[in-house]
Amino acid sequence: MNIRIGNGYDVHALAPGLPLWLGGVQIESPLGCIAHSDGDVAIHALNDALLGALALGDIGKHFPDTSDEFKGIDSKILLERVMDLIWKEGWYVINADITIAMQRPKLAPYIVPMRECLAKLMEVPVSRVSVKATTTEKLGFVGRSEGCEVYAVVLLGRNENTSDCD
Ligand code: MG
Repeated sequence: MNIRIGNGYDVHALAPGLPLWLGGVQIESPLGCIAHSDGDVAIHALNDALLGALALGDIGKHFPDTSDEFKGIDSKILLERVMDLIWKEGWYVINADITIAMQRPKLAPYIVPMRECLAKLMEVPVSRVSVKATTTEKLGFVGRSEGCEVYAVVLLGRNENTSDCD
């Protein structure tokens, strides 16, 4: 079967006064992610899911947070680079499903813009990209607004006439 599934997970700590980027969209929030990059924890989890589907390692391997090249980098650029790897191997995204766990702010107004942004970067219709948001009912580090947690699952496909051996 020319399909592969991948899952990704990421957490960033939150702090006051930092910009908050999720799914390629800037969110109005008193808290933002502490990070080496722009801290887009949703794109980071998605990138790990994409890399994981093809057993290509993780984003720490491809974009080390010790490198000045990635300091403050727009995570959309990282997603573009991951997609180049996916396409180079002859694969494409069938669908992606992302769950963002954050206590506040409410993310509902940003769901469609996030889906549109990610779909454009992965070159799929918006209907293939799901972004969901949940709180954790004030439980745990997410509930205390100490951090933001994201889970991502992707399914990749490859044309039938491509070798299935690698
Ligand atoms: Mg990260």
